[in-house]
Amino acid sequence: TAKQQGKAGFVRYVDGMREPVLAHMRLGGELRRALENDEFRVVYQPIMRLDDYRLIGVEALVRWDHPARGVVGPAEFIPAAERTGLIVPLGRFVLRETCRQAAAWLAEFGPDALREAGLNVSARQLHDPDFVAEVTSALTDSGLPCERLVLEVTESAVLRGQQVSRALYELDRMGIRLALDDFGTGESSLSLLRAFPAAIIKLDKSFVDGIEIDDGRPAAADARQAVARAVIQLADALGLDTVAEGVECPEQVTVLRELGYTVGQGYHLAQPMTAADVSTLLARQQPAGII
Ligand code: C2E
Ligand code: MG
Ligand code: MG
Ligand code: MG
Repeated sequence: TAKQQGKAGFVRYVDGMREPVLAHMRLGGELRRALENDEFRVVYQPIMRLDDYRLIGVEALVRWDHPARGVVGPAEFIPAAERTGLIVPLGRFVLRETCRQAAAWLAEFGPDALREAGLNVSARQLHDPDFVAEVTSALTDSGLPCERLVLEVTESAVLRGQQVSRALYELDRMGIRLALDDFGTGESSLSLLRAFPAAIIKLDKSFVDGIEIDDGRPAAADARQAVARAVIQLADALGLDTVAEGVECPEQVTVLRELGYTVGQGYHLAQPMTAADVSTLLARQQPAGII
């Protein structure tokens, strides 16, 4: 048998079993219950300008306050939510909550307080025939202008099917900005850029990692910076905005700025935080004027 009951009632997987079916069914049931019990919440990670460290936008990131396990990150439940289809109601919650919160920030701090709010959209949501209508109603109900919303999609999600590209083109036509998330890690980054109405490229963290290392060998540094350099050139040529992801130290900011990046996201700039903490940040940076 491929699976056995472990000691504490957990399922153990033997024989290199890749699909933990039973665990997913349990997780699926738990996720459904968690949705009903409002155990999900949204945190926001600021997206910052690299020259003056001012907030220019936020990315919404979902968290699960599990009654027994504490805070659970999306890596642990998004895959199961996608497989069970629960990503559709969960994603709807994140969408509506983010639009509502972004509209509230704009009302409180003015139109220059933040340029946009982004959220992640999975392939499964893009396949849902109701997705575009749900986005429309989230915008209408919140009063958030279309151009303030960014939908982040990964290359692999975009690559899957007709329905997906139709949805993406419709969203683009509505004035919503689409971001290619984790750019450079997918299967066909370059051809995709011609076929997909992206407005923003998010350079994956893996191309920021180590970018600042100075071992005294310029050729080695050039090699580590090669992808980041190529991506900004491509973005500039295509007229796309960029966000460098996973910025963890000031030295990376320096190198990214030298390469031409103006906007970043990462623990060095700001951690994901509650909406209340974003409000504090917005209140504090208010007097400095227009972004
Ligand atoms: P992502 O969209 O690429 O989001 C960035 C992730 O990197 C976040 O992890 C963020 O906390 C983390 N991060 C930010 N700065 C740094 C840094 O400097 N260093 C490191 N090591 N990590 C950093 P998180 O919140 O755990 O989310 C992981 C992924 O889960 C996201 O990656 C996204 O793909 C997915 N996700 C999160 N929320 C949602 C959601 O509401 N819906 C969907 N479909 N996916 C979501
Ligand atoms: Mg993202
Ligand atoms: Mg990302
Ligand atoms: Mg990433």
